[in-house]
Amino acid sequence: MKRKETLANVRKILVKVGSAVLTGEEGLDLTIIEQLVDDIATLRERGYQVILVSSGAIASGKHRMGIQGKLKSIPQKQAAAAIGQGRLMRVYSNAFGKHGLFVGQVLLTMSDLTDRKRFLNIRNTLFTLLEWGVITIINENDTVAVDEIKFGDNDHLAAMVANIVEAHLVINLTNTEGLYDHNPADSKKAKLIPLVTEFTPEIEAAATEEATPIGMGGMKSKVLAAKKVTAFGIPYIIAPGRRPGVLQEIMDGKETGTLFLPMADHLTSRKYWIAFTLRARGRLFVDEGAKEALVADGKSLLPSGVIQVEGDFVLGDPVTCVDAAGNPIAKGLVNYCAEEIRKIMGLKTTKIEQVLGYKDYDEIIHRDNLAVMIHPDEKSKTRNPKTL
Ligand code: GLU
Repeated sequence: MKRKETLANVRKILVKVGSAVLTGEEGLDLTIIEQLVDDIATLRERGYQVILVSSGAIASGKHRMGIQGKLKSIPQKQAAAAIGQGRLMRVYSNAFGKHGLFVGQVLLTMSDLTDRKRFLNIRNTLFTLLEWGVITIINENDTVAVDEIKFGDNDHLAAMVANIVEAHLVINLTNTEGLYDHNPADSKKAKLIPLVTEFTPEIEAAATEEATPIGMGGMKSKVLAAKKVTAFGIPYIIAPGRRPGVLQEIMDGKETGTLFLPMADHLTSRKYWIAFTLRARGRLFVDEGAKEALVADGKSLLPSGVIQVEGDFVLGDPVTCVDAAGNPIAKGLVNYCAEEIRKIMGLKTTKIEQVLGYKDYDEIIHRDNLAVMIHPDEKSKTRNPKTL
């Protein structure tokens, strides 16, 4: 019942498909790709909009060059992506062409999204492509992305794109049936979890870190991505990508894969961007009173609640607010630089001018620029320290 209710109003679907689904011994698996494209084309006929985040560039390029085993260096991976991305798009273009559908390619790096202006530009482009009825195929711009600007894996990229396009549902097609309570490779008794309503420690533990030899993410990164996407109010499904007609099955409401329900009090698009797209430049330790004010009362962060400043950041930079023990609580954009906050921390707002000689803002972080990452009922637990 939960499934049908959750999927009832879905019109815009983001499908993410991993290299482990798309590639085999012989490089890109054309049969699987045709099968996936048929499935997407049928969704289109049923009136759904579809955006595709597809991996496969590096794996395909590597195969083209006849390289066995792992690629050794980042330049090798980037070179392989340069070869494989074109091929990947040609294969998609041919397959969608048979259904009379056009494809558009969008390659993104993290730095495209951390800049708010570029973020909004990309958003406009993606919405135009949707309006034109084109199937947009997105991948990381692997050939230019270097370590600190890399999304890391396409699970994360898809989570960011879900926010940009305001998807109603994300389907992550992978090489397993979904999320299991134990790693199915280790235990025969492992059971598929059909529904996740909350990110309990058991759910976190169920996802192992390990990536497959082909894909980069592994189950852990899929669960982390599900956490981000559901925090934005979007349901998330991990499903078996090689099963014919899997997308139809899902949209028919069948119990396929694992469905993660959206969180009830989700973040707005801008706050989601602050929480998950931006990289924190420092940490502000806050006292219990400020923690309560941020989490339970929905207030801004004032100087009086700050007890320690870590890092060197400037006005407008994203920082993580942590409690005295260092547990992340929220992330936001600061109105003062680190040096200034060191001078005014612990003080009443009325003292700011006296100490600094000026006062542009009352708040260290205004509420509108603050994404709270823990629920009022779980004050002691942290939702997702890794992504803050
Ligand atoms: N962007 C990479 C590719 O297309 C894949 C990243 C991933 O597997 O998550 O090959």
